[in-house]
Amino acid sequence: MLTRKDVKWQWRVEQQKAFDKLKRAFTTKPVLAAPDLDKEFRVEADVSNYATGGVLSMNCSDEMWKPVAFISKSLSDTERNYEIHDKEMLAVVRCLEAWRHFLEGAAIKFEIWTNHKNLKYFMKAQKLNRRQARWALYLSRFNFILKHVPGSKIGKADSLSRRPDWKVEVEKDNEDQRLVKPEWLEVRKTEMIEIIVDGVDLLEEVRKSKVKDNEMVKAVEEVKKAGVKMLRDEEWREIDGIIYKEGKVYVPKDNRLRAEIIRLHHDTPVGGHGGQWKIVELVTQNFWWPGITKEVKQYIEGCNACQHNKNCTEQPAGKLMPNSIPEKLWTHISVHFITKLPLVQGYNSILVVVD
Ligand SMILES: [Zn+2]
Repeated sequence: MLTRKDVKWQWRVEQQKAFDKLKRAFTTKPVLAAPDLDKEFRVEADVSNYATGGVLSMNCSDEMWKPVAFISKSLSDTERNYEIHDKEMLAVVRCLEAWRHFLEGAAIKFEIWTNHKNLKYFMKAQKLNRRQARWALYLSRFNFILKHVPGSKIGKADSLSRRPDWKVEVEKDNEDQRLVKPEWLEVRKTEMIEIIVDGVDLLEEVRKSKVKDNEMVKAVEEVKKAGVKMLRDEEWREIDGIIYKEGKVYVPKDNRLRAEIIRLHHDTPVGGHGGQWKIVELVTQNFWWPGITKEVKQYIEGCNACQHNKNCTEQPAGKLMPNSIPEKLWTHISVHFITKLPLVQGYNSILVVVD
């Protein structure tokens, strides 16, 4: 600011104050703690419209957390267009990349504090794009838990993601990206907000299903009565008219609906007419009902497109046989091009004629 073109150099009380403040900050606490891999770490990550920020802290003793490192990095044009949950994840991934050498081998499971609950939601996301899949793979190397912390509590990471010098010409860009859908913040542990496959909101379909499913009610009772040791109450729960079994949406015995769900996971680009196990895997990421595997198998067996593409019904091409040795001239003539040879005097092919 002081040396910019067209700005008059001046050093007044204000500047001296700022200088003194900086001097103090550099020479007094909080100073960075030296990382110790046997101690507990904490990562705070945050993102703004134009940058990510992060703080690595360490539990030094008696809950005295001291900062170990800070990062602040701007977003590229592409990254600025990410969905908010992707931006949040990018902030986390950048922290993990920056401090991998501390965190990957950390003795104690560490917490990652982020601003938005939607990151948790994202962890349950059904279909990962390539970038997300890469992140998921990367994250799996670390021993951490994600903790949702409101923005005000992660002020350091938040301000690092708002460094004004990276804000240049970004201000008007994607302003709403930081808005989190309010209903997302209400998400309870196993509740899903929407499951949209090929433009159909399946959760809404399940909710709307009028089929009174006595079998299911009985099944829930039975399973509970059976007293399987692992069984906990949370395995079955009802939220907002949807019944979940271990976090998966239970689809009532509505054959039309169940078939539709399979169809949407099989006949669409997502399913790509995949085989039984692929489709079972896709469907059961979100849904469950008894006998689902069998029903998927039956569906695929009945799928016209799959049956047509299953085997090549054409006669295989015959084996190439050499001609028998001719007895006269001009009875057998074969012609063959040898192409794509290196250019010699402007030519690159040879025509071979055999009589
Ligand atoms: Zn098919």
